[in-house]
Amino acid sequence: MNVPSSVGDTFAFAPPAQVSLPVADTGQLFPVNRIYCVGRNYAAHAIEMGHDPDKEPPFFFIKAADTIVQPGGVFPYPDKTTDVHHEIEHVVAIGTGGTDIPLESALDHVFGYAVGLDMTRRDLQGEAKKAGRPWEVGKSFDHSAPMSPVHTSAAIGHPKAGTVHLEINGETRQSGDLNQLIWKTEEVIAFLSGLFTLVPGDLIMTGTPAGVGPVSRGDVITGGVDGIDTIRVEVV
Ligand code: MN
Repeated sequence: MNVPSSVGDTFAFAPPAQVSLPVADTGQLFPVNRIYCVGRNYAAHAIEMGHDPDKEPPFFFIKAADTIVQPGGVFPYPDKTTDVHHEIEHVVAIGTGGTDIPLESALDHVFGYAVGLDMTRRDLQGEAKKAGRPWEVGKSFDHSAPMSPVHTSAAIGHPKAGTVHLEINGETRQSGDLNQLIWKTEEVIAFLSGLFTLVPGDLIMTGTPAGVGPVSRGDVITGGVDGIDTIRVEVV
């Protein structure tokens, strides 16, 4: 029997490092598995994107975990686009996995919360939508998910209201409130866990309020979710 004696015998080459985010005030890391994203979860944003905000079932897409930009990092303006948009989002960090998680116990599966940016190559996303193609080129490109540290629900509870805001060079561009989420955190977890088995380490970006728009090299993006954290990212 061939027993692997070292990494070199197990993997053809060194595996990529585990993606993680710092857990605020602990010195520990939150190991990131998948990043699920909810589309059109604020009525005013659904309308600005040309859709009817009536409560239809939530829909999801996935960003690769290695698109995360660490807290304090910069956002390199990506290639193959001339229209990169900011989307400030409330992010749920899953601590206990499950399938078909009941609504009543959904929040028990939350490890904590973070603030994230769902950076979007809007021109490429628009072309994909028009052609009925997948969204990855618009949504899951390198560095497309700048994040704050994760704050444990043990420390901050489960925020249900609070301003969700974003500024470019100090000027307000997005301002909404967590209480405007069409699908609430517990509803998103219940619904998503019917489609995918959630595991500890999954992140869920819960959607963006109205006011999305383009960024340029040199811009400083700031934003936050009251009760969770703030974020500051320079576009380089
Ligand atoms: Mn988004």
